Amino acid sequence: MSVVVVSNRVARAKADEPIAGGLAAALIPMVKESGAIWVGSSGHAADATQTKDSFAKIESLGTGALATVDMPAKHYLGYYEGFANSALWPALHSRPDLIHVTAEHYGSYREVNTFMARALLRFSKPDAMFWVQDYHFLTLGAELRRLNISRPIGFFLHTPWAERRTMAAIPHHADIVREMLAYDLIGFQTVEDRQNFEDYLRVELGLTAVDGTIATEWGWTQLATFPIGIDVEEFVARANKAVGRPEVSRLRASLQGAKLVLGVDRLDYSKGLANRVRAFERMLESEPNLKRAVSLLQVAVPSRGNIRAYRELKAELAALVSEVNGRHGEVDWTPIRYLNKGFSQLTLAGFYRTALVGLVTPLHDGMNLVAKEYVAAQNPFDPGVLVLSSFAGAAKELDAALLVNPHDIDGMARQIATALTMKVEERRERWQTMMTKLKRSSVQSWFSDFLHTLSEVRRAPSLPANLPRVLELAGRRSA
Ligand code: UDP
Repeated sequence: MSVVVVSNRVARAKADEPIAGGLAAALIPMVKESGAIWVGSSGHAADATQTKDSFAKIESLGTGALATVDMPAKHYLGYYEGFANSALWPALHSRPDLIHVTAEHYGSYREVNTFMARALLRFSKPDAMFWVQDYHFLTLGAELRRLNISRPIGFFLHTPWAERRTMAAIPHHADIVREMLAYDLIGFQTVEDRQNFEDYLRVELGLTAVDGTIATEWGWTQLATFPIGIDVEEFVARANKAVGRPEVSRLRASLQGAKLVLGVDRLDYSKGLANRVRAFERMLESEPNLKRAVSLLQVAVPSRGNIRAYRELKAELAALVSEVNGRHGEVDWTPIRYLNKGFSQLTLAGFYRTALVGLVTPLHDGMNLVAKEYVAAQNPFDPGVLVLSSFAGAAKELDAALLVNPHDIDGMARQIATALTMKVEERRERWQTMMTKLKRSSVQSWFSDFLHTLSEVRRAPSLPANLPRVLELAGRRSA
């Protein structure tokens, strides 16, 4: 069965460019290998007449294809910067205090989902399944059903699904979740995310999942967990190759024997960057013998800079890093190197391998692929140590990392020091355990497991009487 993958952004696979986030990083190799069509926004907005026949561009990507569509200008900002990234993203990452949207933003979100559903109609091959990615398109499945699409439609959430009361802080949350039940299969990163979703359904909508299945007037929806992975072999190969990259050699030479601690993140409040900087400073204060012998390189790629919360975060971090450097630096030593730019995955693989410590301390994260990439890129004979937040989805699998609570600055400082002084035998043992798990749940198995499950799901012709129902469902939107 062929598959049409849909996400907000698609990424072109130039080896020399940074990738804008984990979703794109995961999908590029999969589309290349599977022959899937990957449809997304071109990142440009066009007015209604231009978007009518919508595809700006179709190009090949390995055995698959990329199709990009210009988004409706009237609604693009309300959809993207508004509802998706100023209501859904903060709530999904347990920051309801950062929700800042209007009714117009919600209207635009719905309009763009409807627009994308119509744009997808041109992929009318009757046997193609649709696989919708992420929080930008929670209601796209329902819009496709309204256009009489009856083939399997799956959805995967790359972010966490926060606990029930947090999700209930989103304006129109119940409407949205009812619409989500038009999907045949909803995939989550972790069991906890799935349980939070089931909890939401039970308390907010009065729906109980039976063996992970919900029955509504849309039909059946199966809920399941598919932790996303990386292309492990590819990352190993990159790390071997990257040693010769100019940035990597320059980084190594500049260390002059000092140990490298590395953080690589989008500049996002979910990543816990301020606490990380504070913990690094605390470590320097409590272990003065490590001063000069260690350096933190924090790559913080600017993201969503038009949104106030992101601009404020950028200013806060710049001030914090400069304070720490001012307090602890010496004429010939800067404790924190702080960069607001991205690197290609090849160069990153070289940075990962150079770093004795990978510092991945988000406050809440769906999976966090950087954690997995860091592990895969290590030298098997002399691997580095991953210090990982227990609030990242990756911690469920990578429990042989040094797990930390990103709110506990002292605890993080202690674990960074432990990582910096860990004996090679223990480093190897922990690394081996994590590598075995990474290989078992690669991005290849994530992709094929989801699609296999989706192809097995069949919509029920009628509902069994013993399963609860949403009576007022079928496409209605309350105010
Ligand atoms: N990345 C990159 N260049 C950079 C920083 C990050 O290519 O300079 C990639 C990184 O290799 C990873 C992805 O972006 O694959 C980030 O994914 P993650 O799940 O860690 O976080 P997200 O940004 O999706 O929240």
